[in-house]
Amino acid sequence: MCIESIVLMLLACTVGMSTSVMKTEPILLVHGGAGDIPDERVPTKMAGMRKSVLVGFQVLKAGGSAIDAVEAAIKVMEDDEAFNAGYGSVLNTDGEVEMDACVMLGNLSAGAVSIVRDIQHPISLARLVMEKTPHVMFAGAGANRFAREQGVPFVAPGSLVSESAKRSLEMFKKNQAEHLTETGHTKPPGPLKDVKNPGDVGTVGAVAIDINGNMAAGTSTGGLNGKMVGRVSDTSMIGSGTYCDEDVGAVSTTGHGDTIAKACLAHSIIKEMEHGKSAQDAASHCLEKMTNRLKHTAGAIVLSKEGDVGIYFTSKRMGWAYQKGNKIHSGVNHDHVVTEEV
Ligand code: ASP
Repeated sequence: MCIESIVLMLLACTVGMSTSVMKTEPILLVHGGAGDIPDERVPTKMAGMRKSVLVGFQVLKAGGSAIDAVEAAIKVMEDDEAFNAGYGSVLNTDGEVEMDACVMLGNLSAGAVSIVRDIQHPISLARLVMEKTPHVMFAGAGANRFAREQGVPFVAPGSLVSESAKRSLEMFKKNQAEHLTETGHTKPPGPLKDVKNPGDVGTVGAVAIDINGNMAAGTSTGGLNGKMVGRVSDTSMIGSGTYCDEDVGAVSTTGHGDTIAKACLAHSIIKEMEHGKSAQDAASHCLEKMTNRLKHTAGAIVLSKEGDVGIYFTSKRMGWAYQKGNKIHSGVNHDHVVTEEV
């Protein structure tokens, strides 16, 4: 055997050894919705996101998978009235909760549900679609039937309707009626762009990378306050609200869903990263482009496969928080970051 072959063999052994013991630094990044978040709702959202990150990161720290962390983090916010997901979801024009959710893994496995009713954790149902069926998405009655077949617990009809969601719908209907009187326009079937919509903030999402370098993304929402019955949100659309590709990264978005869907926002961000942009630059470029062209705002959280974090929003605010090592960073503005050691 020549000396070059021996050197090459030794090199291969060393590389093999180092990759097998090498572990990735885990990161969990969550958002709690984009929009005109009123000052009085900031503290509850910050507290809810902090709890979500602590719970989800604990999973990663214990060696758990990225998808387990994403699901755990989102479930915390689905239980919290401060967010537009699970309990506390905004209401459709009939005053009912209809929810959407999606999960995706780095190997492109995905599952989504839309227009589901009376279950506490749509994110877990989306995961069941991914893990237990050959399909990627269930909607309406079929989604609820699948939940029943899987033994997902149901809550009493109406019990996901929170007092603040009721107030938000009333306020929105009043604002829309006043706007129509002032402008002389006829009643639209769904929410009008120019009408202030108080409940419109608080969709939740999470992206994570675990110690084995596996990635996952998930998003869950009650949709838009005052939406038409049966409306499907971007959140449940793979490529709009959620995308994950282990060769590139993971994204969860929030904001005006009918616009995010047209821009295929999450997938657009991943594509720009694939072509060399950083997580932050891809997020800012895609969001600015979408808002300039379609005149509605949104936000995104992004994690690259190398562990770079991207956070960007064209709305006034977006709630976000992430943990890396023993530090949690969080905020609702571009310029004010709170850092805490845990
Ligand atoms: N994207 C969600 C929807 O339009 C709402 C949100 O993110 O706040 O249903």
